[in-house]
Amino acid sequence: MNTPHPTIRQLVRENIRSLKPYSSARDEFSGKALVWLDANENPYAEQLELVVRDPATGREVEVFDTGELNRYPDPYHQDLRKKIATLKGVRPEQIFLGNGSDEVLDLLFRTFCEPGRDEVILQPPTYGMYKVLADIHGVAVKEVPLDRHFQPDLFALFEAAGEHTRMIFFCSPNNPTGNTVDRERVEEVLRHFDGLVIVDEAYIDFAPEKSLLPLIDRYERLVVLQTFSKARGLAGIRLGMAFGNPEIFRWLNAVKLPYNLNRLTLALAALRYDIRENREKIDAILRERELLTSFLEALPYVKKVWPSEANFVLACFDKPEEVYRYLLDQGIVVRLRPHIPGCGTAIRITVGTEEENRMLREALKKLETP
Ligand code: PMP
Repeated sequence: MNTPHPTIRQLVRENIRSLKPYSSARDEFSGKALVWLDANENPYAEQLELVVRDPATGREVEVFDTGELNRYPDPYHQDLRKKIATLKGVRPEQIFLGNGSDEVLDLLFRTFCEPGRDEVILQPPTYGMYKVLADIHGVAVKEVPLDRHFQPDLFALFEAAGEHTRMIFFCSPNNPTGNTVDRERVEEVLRHFDGLVIVDEAYIDFAPEKSLLPLIDRYERLVVLQTFSKARGLAGIRLGMAFGNPEIFRWLNAVKLPYNLNRLTLALAALRYDIRENREKIDAILRERELLTSFLEALPYVKKVWPSEANFVLACFDKPEEVYRYLLDQGIVVRLRPHIPGCGTAIRITVGTEEENRMLREALKKLETP
């Protein structure tokens, strides 16, 4: 017999369900006022004009006004959510913004997992923060490894999912393997799993595959994560986006710190929110990725290079630690990734600029037999 799926409210951690959230000054009044004397701010305006220059030519592209930095920012980021909603074809209430997608991930654990009781399912090898967050929050991890094509093992996922499994994480394209996840398998989980399904699409703008974003209208327990840190090139401003059911986000809003995004981040993101202006840079990264992949494949001491749909390449080396240390000596930092099936420790290389990649290739060419 089919039992109905739990409601979002039933999935929320018990003490959060009964939480009386902090009510900030901007919660209590956010309209227009002549005089703001409610938030203990400094009344003397602190406003900066930032000059945006084209890094290539040094030419001034834009003068950018930061707004009143002596005032707290909008706790619910309404203007920016409206802009992103238009760009993405969703409603503003289907968007939640965090201090990087890492903050959104942290909030999901804090809001939906009872420490010491609940558990999540991770599919290694994958992004390391999921497990770190689970450990921080006292949430058990069930690991259901990806299959040999780095695709979800549906049978094992359904075997592992139990009464207290609150979230299953998919990462697509997956960090560190670089492949996108089969959409049909995610949908199968969305149809049958009782908890939240988190699809982390940090690298989706590098992939030919389409985002699962349109599915948020069909599945109320789906959360899609994207970020300004990768294709948009703004890791420094810390801005992550979650798309999904507004009810999930009402709970996250109750749990998050009142002013989680600062005014500079909000203003800079609004200025740079249109992905199209970044297309040239993404295309350059994709060209360089192909060049790097074929170069690595031809190296005698490289055993395997996995095809990538992200802005990095994972490769299996004969002696990865030695290669890693050698590259460090040359001033080039890559990342060792342990526990890769069929390889052990592999090396993940982020695709850099043409010049940076050339330097990497030159260094690796000199390393004949490590
Ligand atoms: N998800 C994945 C898969 C990542 O690789 C990363 C960062 N490396 C993040 C999320 C975190 O991104 P953000 O900068 O938005 O916190």
